[in-house]
Amino acid sequence: MLTSDQVTTNHPAQGPVKKPYSFFHNVEMWFDKAARFTKWEKGILEQIKACNAVYRMRFPVKIGDHIEVIEAYRVQHSHHKLPCKGGIRYSEEVNQDEVMALAALMTYKCAIVNVPFGGAKGGIRINPKKYSVYELEKITRRYTSELIKKNFIGPGIDVPAPDYGTGEREMSWILDTYLSLKPGELDGLGCVTGKPVSQGGVRGRKEATGRGVFYGLREVLSHKEDMKRLGLEPGVEGKTVIVQGLGNVGYHTAKFFYEAGAKIICLIEWDAAIYNPRGLNPDEVVKFREETGSIKNFPGAQTLRRNTDGLELECDILIPAALENVIDAENAPRIKARIIGEAANGPLTVEADEILLKKNVLVVPDVFLNAGGVTVSYFEWLKNLQHVRYGRIEKRFTANMNHLILEQIEKNTGKPVDDAHRRLIEHGPDEIDLVNSGLEETMIEAVQEIREIWHSHKDIPDMRTAAFVSAINKIGEAYAQLGIFP
Ligand code: GLU
Repeated sequence: MLTSDQVTTNHPAQGPVKKPYSFFHNVEMWFDKAARFTKWEKGILEQIKACNAVYRMRFPVKIGDHIEVIEAYRVQHSHHKLPCKGGIRYSEEVNQDEVMALAALMTYKCAIVNVPFGGAKGGIRINPKKYSVYELEKITRRYTSELIKKNFIGPGIDVPAPDYGTGEREMSWILDTYLSLKPGELDGLGCVTGKPVSQGGVRGRKEATGRGVFYGLREVLSHKEDMKRLGLEPGVEGKTVIVQGLGNVGYHTAKFFYEAGAKIICLIEWDAAIYNPRGLNPDEVVKFREETGSIKNFPGAQTLRRNTDGLELECDILIPAALENVIDAENAPRIKARIIGEAANGPLTVEADEILLKKNVLVVPDVFLNAGGVTVSYFEWLKNLQHVRYGRIEKRFTANMNHLILEQIEKNTGKPVDDAHRRLIEHGPDEIDLVNSGLEETMIEAVQEIREIWHSHKDIPDMRTAAFVSAINKIGEAYAQLGIFP
């Protein structure tokens, strides 16, 4: 591996750019770019940037009739707030550097959206498609017990969640392993989030990242002056959108944009990309994939020659929603989107950022745009500690109060309220209403905070730098309050 004093490359478009030698280094470069706009001393900045704890494990699991040695990680990037929080990824690409980078992004992400956690991430280096459900369960349970042995999991220590290649099923295995090895722990349900609702999960968690991406971009699109600079009209309706990755995050993002009247002109998967300038319905595409095993040859759409060609089509908004490093110095010059909304973690490299900035493309960064998942994880964790479902206490009370208010309005005006409005107004909040409104508020507030920082300093070049400034200031403040041991 190369050292941090890394080679520089020359880009005709923007002069010398320091080339990141790894994903973690890439995150460090974003951090350094933003740190210049903060007042913190070097030592504090170094502490914020560093990965506090890296746990690399190897454990044996019997697969079929042989023993396989599984490589896995859990990284706790920051302990300035506890517990640590972040997903667990199952992928053949998992390595220590990647998990460190993703854990660091979690720290900054949580700070930006005011979720009071330190950042963490886990990964198991496997291709989950190659294992049976029974084998995946064995691997997940063994990984969980390794975490327990080293005190790397717990509602007040470190709380995993889904990420690429994992979902509700894996989270329920983690929960069950934890509860059986730690019997009687009152807040044990809070040791993991993204659980099925029947096992202490919260309604709305599954679609939360995609919903958050939608709320965040909708807010960005609502600012007239910013849109004018890009030559776009404000608003979501009629915008042409391309989504790369049709997993949980990509599918829900595409669905919310589709429902709000945007035109999904291209969907890109790992094995194919389909294009239809009249628009695609993400539900129909997913149904087709279920039936045929691929989105390839979806009726009425053109299947592109290379799936990566989809990234380079003309559109208003390009949403990479799969893995890191999909847009780099090589393909960035050919990107024709006006806005890039990063639903994945780290889909652009530092070099791509620089090139796109020169092309006047607005990059809406992952570090807050995909924070919907962890935000609703926070709501789930709070629900687990409270031991009560959201809305349970106040739903009926609110409904009764609303009924009384309506009665008074009708009496005073002499006009009856129509049935449709009556149903809307009288209804007391359910868990899903409260979760979605908490998420909406979080994403809108984050955009406003970041825009304020971005526009208040003429040298801050882009939204990502502004978002990192926000994160660094909040974490720096936490360290200042904690005090550093003498
Ligand atoms: N894996 C998701 C992320 O990267 C969610 C993490 C969480 O809910 O803790 O943000």
